Amino acid sequence: MKEPLELRIDAPLFEKLENHLFPGDRDEHGAVIVAGIVETPRGTRLLAREVFLARDGIDYVPGQHGYRALTARFVAETSGYCAKENLCYVAVHCHGGKDEVSFSSDDMASHERGYPALLDITRGGPVGALVFAKNAVAGDIWTPSGRYKLEHMTIIGANIRKLYPSPRKRSPIANPMYDRHSRMFGDVGQEILSNLKVGIIGLGGGGSLINEWLSRLGVEHIVAIDFDRVELTNLPRIVGATHRDAMTWLTKSGIPWLEKLGKRLAAYKVHVARRVAKQANPSIHYDAIVGNIVDESIAKLLVDTDFIFLATDSMQSRLVFNAILHQYLIPGIQIGAKVPVDKQTKQVGDIFTATRPVLPYAYAGCLQCHELIPPGRLQQETLSETERRNQQYVEDENIAQPSVITLNVKSAEQAVNDFKMMFTGLYKPEVQLRHQVHFARERKTSEVGPRADPNCLDCSDSNRSRRARGDRFRLPCRMLEAPSSSK
Ligand SMILES: [Zn+2]
Ligand SMILES: [Zn+2]
Repeated sequence: MKEPLELRIDAPLFEKLENHLFPGDRDEHGAVIVAGIVETPRGTRLLAREVFLARDGIDYVPGQHGYRALTARFVAETSGYCAKENLCYVAVHCHGGKDEVSFSSDDMASHERGYPALLDITRGGPVGALVFAKNAVAGDIWTPSGRYKLEHMTIIGANIRKLYPSPRKRSPIANPMYDRHSRMFGDVGQEILSNLKVGIIGLGGGGSLINEWLSRLGVEHIVAIDFDRVELTNLPRIVGATHRDAMTWLTKSGIPWLEKLGKRLAAYKVHVARRVAKQANPSIHYDAIVGNIVDESIAKLLVDTDFIFLATDSMQSRLVFNAILHQYLIPGIQIGAKVPVDKQTKQVGDIFTATRPVLPYAYAGCLQCHELIPPGRLQQETLSETERRNQQYVEDENIAQPSVITLNVKSAEQAVNDFKMMFTGLYKPEVQLRHQVHFARERKTSEVGPRADPNCLDCSDSNRSRRARGDRFRLPCRMLEAPSSSK
């Protein structure tokens, strides 16, 4: 298993656990977290899917060896559930204290007595334990190949919090370039932003703005995904794109074979984005991926990110984006702008821009629950062009849509501000990250109330849902080509 080892949990689930462990009586309490897992070269993440609270005096009782222990029956039931659902078993209890915590020798001895057998029952686990203090957590996680310490826990809500076993040492020297940032969110906040790996799907108008702002904010690792090349009509919107990138001198030469050649030689949007990012921050780690998020091998490049922006128009990319966020417990935001034009009258309708935060739990913006991935349109996209013509879907995507950079800015700006506020912990506790829609012609912004379908296959805890299952569940992707990446 690759280290560091992290446990991710959503804010409502953590609150349920925290209220149980710290009701104010300063006593010890117990529970079990049931979790999925994702392993990548960047490390391993356990993904909390459910929490089973152990009832005091019934499931959590005075122990034979230590102060208290989970009953054999409670352990058997919860670990049996893990085995059946192919999830990991993590026992939890609390100690006193505040900013620092570690297991007692009784705790460690009980792990050594119990976990080898539990590894068998759960068919390899991993299994293990966490111990909490009010602002700290330590973990001892067992796999068939060895035993690992939890590096930290991430709590995903409107503000993103991290808990460690003990207070962290400050980084030695801050980068003077970010002095004005540090005055707002401290060197610690800047360090948090620097350490993030952020995905951007779609590097057209909106995505190119996000790309520039993230690199100037000091994000040190960006994964940019887009299969498209720059065209002449993109130049008014894509940050940093030039006539040379669009090969205008060839594509507008009037000579058909030169025009064809020009289209083949035009720069990929992700390569323009990489150039822009490197200008802002030469040390940035940039993965420019020429590919489609609909392909599983491309989608998998995002499963260990800390945040994902979606800035494409397709329903298929919405489907995959929403699935990745929930399956791997990653927060994200979808942005878009729409200028409806009546086909007959050519009248411009209600121009709107949207910023839609999605956190990986119910009532937190799931695009499925908000009916933003209509099955009809999804199906229509998967048809070939001929099929579409036969079914008389002579639809939008072949007709160029109106688009203006300032509308892209409107939706992208809120998205990147949300991102920055979430990671630096600056949102007030009462903030709810609702979908926002701005109507340009009315000069009005409205919020969309939270929605959740109790049987949603993405955000719910129904036993068929993908939520927090990580590597042990399929993404709704096609399994084709390997990624063509260039560094
Ligand atoms: Zn203990
Ligand atoms: Zn949902």
